[in-house]
Amino acid sequence: MSEASGQMTAQGPAGARLRVAVEAPRHTSIAVLLDYTCEHALAPGTLVRVPLGAREVAGVVWESAPSAALGRDDPAREAAPKDLRAVRAVLDAMPALDARWRAMIDFAASYYQRGLGELALAVLPPQLRQIDNGQLARRIKSATSAAAAELGQAVARPVALNADQAAALEAFFAEAGRPALLHGVTGSGKTEVYLHAAARALAQGGQVLVLVPEINLTPQLEARFAERFPQHLLASLHSALTPAQRLRHWLLAHLGRAQLVLGTRLAVFASMPRLALIVVDEEHDASFKQQEGARYSARDLAVWRAQQLGIPVLLGSATPSLETWQRVQQGRYRRLVLGSRIGQGELPRVRMVDMRQLLRAGAGQRAAQGAPSGAADDAPLAPPLLDAVRARLERGEQSLLLLNRRGYAPVLHCPACGWKSGCPHCSAWRVFHKLDRTLRCHHCGLAERVPRACPECGNLDITPMGRGTEKLVEQLGAVLPGARIARIDADTTRAAGELVRQLAAVHEGEVDVLVGTQILAKGHDFRRVTLVAAVNPDGALFSADFRAPERLFALLMQAAGRAGRDAAHAARSEMWIQTTVPAHPLYAALAAHDYEAFARAQLDERAAAGLPPFTHLALVRAEARDAAPAMAFLHAAAAQLATLAVPGVRVYPPVPPAMARLADVERVQMLLESASRPALHKALSQWLPGLNALRAAHKGVIRWAVDVDPQAI
Ligand code: ADP
Ligand code: ZN
Ligand code: ZN
Repeated sequence: MSEASGQMTAQGPAGARLRVAVEAPRHTSIAVLLDYTCEHALAPGTLVRVPLGAREVAGVVWESAPSAALGRDDPAREAAPKDLRAVRAVLDAMPALDARWRAMIDFAASYYQRGLGELALAVLPPQLRQIDNGQLARRIKSATSAAAAELGQAVARPVALNADQAAALEAFFAEAGRPALLHGVTGSGKTEVYLHAAARALAQGGQVLVLVPEINLTPQLEARFAERFPQHLLASLHSALTPAQRLRHWLLAHLGRAQLVLGTRLAVFASMPRLALIVVDEEHDASFKQQEGARYSARDLAVWRAQQLGIPVLLGSATPSLETWQRVQQGRYRRLVLGSRIGQGELPRVRMVDMRQLLRAGAGQRAAQGAPSGAADDAPLAPPLLDAVRARLERGEQSLLLLNRRGYAPVLHCPACGWKSGCPHCSAWRVFHKLDRTLRCHHCGLAERVPRACPECGNLDITPMGRGTEKLVEQLGAVLPGARIARIDADTTRAAGELVRQLAAVHEGEVDVLVGTQILAKGHDFRRVTLVAAVNPDGALFSADFRAPERLFALLMQAAGRAGRDAAHAARSEMWIQTTVPAHPLYAALAAHDYEAFARAQLDERAAAGLPPFTHLALVRAEARDAAPAMAFLHAAAAQLATLAVPGVRVYPPVPPAMARLADVERVQMLLESASRPALHKALSQWLPGLNALRAAHKGVIRWAVDVDPQAI
């Protein structure tokens, strides 16, 4: 049983009185705790099952105290114990969630404006909501006994750090109070610094939490940690685990048995009683922001959690987020630099291909064929780039071609009547997939067979417009006879284990030319790749999303890092960019491998435009079958906010986002902006609780939500 239960005495005949954070939708429970009774007192942090209306739901005991003390702050809660319902079940086979874990949930719920119980239960393994105490006890027993058997014997010899790495490590531990950015290009030895930092924390009996942006990256990093620390138990936490695995790994962390926890954003909420170090790898990655439900930033919470515990936190990146970079400039974070790649590995030379010439040359030809103008997709690649790929083929080296669009063509089009393959449910085109002859919406998933003729006019000659990875592979096949061309994207890697299998084939040298989406840019260590090309990256330069350039720069830097990792080939490694704006400052900074120049220019632009990190944003979104009620609701909400008159918060009128319609639901959003974070939070916390009542008056609004620090606006 748990810490405090022995010290509590039951209150009156009904026993103890508890305040429980219950799993319930936000509108019933924003920051609200419900009161229950129990025969005996329970420690805060104990998992329970309680009645709620006609249902029984899971909850976490948040407070357990004499009834008078609990009711004091809220007269409405002064119900006599006899009026309260009793807890139905207590899961005390596991230790209670400690005060620091609960404080983190408290903070995250209020910062991101979610219900306490909603968040607490959402971040716990789902199986904890279903099993009873006896089952839990058995799970704990089997998890811990299996874990003991897993530990290896051999001790892997650690790599000796180079001077930069050693200096970074010393500086990191010398001042644990301030978060540290470990800034170094791909291959500069960041992971090795993580391993050494972890070794130190483990040696002192602490637990280490390592966060990575994507599941794809966990097996590689996991292997490196497991190999280096065979005598320590490692638990991974990510969404690809089965519910049983997730519970097992979570329990091992919670019990303190797993000293290493490695996982994606969700893992930031792992209960780790002896947490001593947090590492966030690729801290700039947008996947650290949860985009559904509680829209939290795992990176920001990791920093909060480290500061709460007084433990060091290391944020690693080659291209830090501008938020992190600004904090470094302000001195709030420290910057530790790894100056160069390990060994002889040099960064590839960056070459621009000016696509304007190619476009002009192709335009006349296309006009003659009646094809839409403006697409440079008739040739597989610009001639000089194609020659460079051929040169790799002759030398037995590999090329990596990035095109961030899967399928054959992003849209089908009827030249006779102008029909396009729109999705009937979304404001998006349906993508033509030639291999399985489907038109697929990448947003709502609608897939249908490609029509034989135009659905509007019956024309048999409907044509694909633009180009995706399938088409690029087809085109390359025609001009590179005999080359082994492979495609890796979300379509080819849907089945479990496929990505790993296909990457292994690349590593084995079974592939000459690899075509893929950004799935390829991250993390993978391709030794034989000496050419990386971005086939069509310009879109992000002109995007309405103010973060698009930042993401593009990070992606291209990371992609460049795929080339030249093998010292033997480094000298002739190249990164090619096909662009219509070769003189763009973003590409100039990329060519110079100059993150700082890029960051400086971007921060200047953001400051001038009043965008983050210079201002703080929150989005309120509403969804309905038709836009009108959602719009009316947000207008009424804005009027309510105006009556609160919180100074320093600017409210923009509600507008539809770029993707206005998704799966037959219309979306509308309203932006709040403030130079002061406290002012923004004051406004949100005073305003949002009232919105549920308001929503009731706007029939048709399906749901609404707030997104604090949104990634895209
Ligand atoms: P990053 O995480 O920055 O991409 P890694 O830590 O993976 O860099 O290092 C790149 C490569 O260099 C890896 O193969 C790693 O084992 C090796 N390496 C890292 N540090 C050292 C070192 N001090 N001595 C020798 N090899 C190293
Ligand atoms: Zn038609
Ligand atoms: Zn759709």
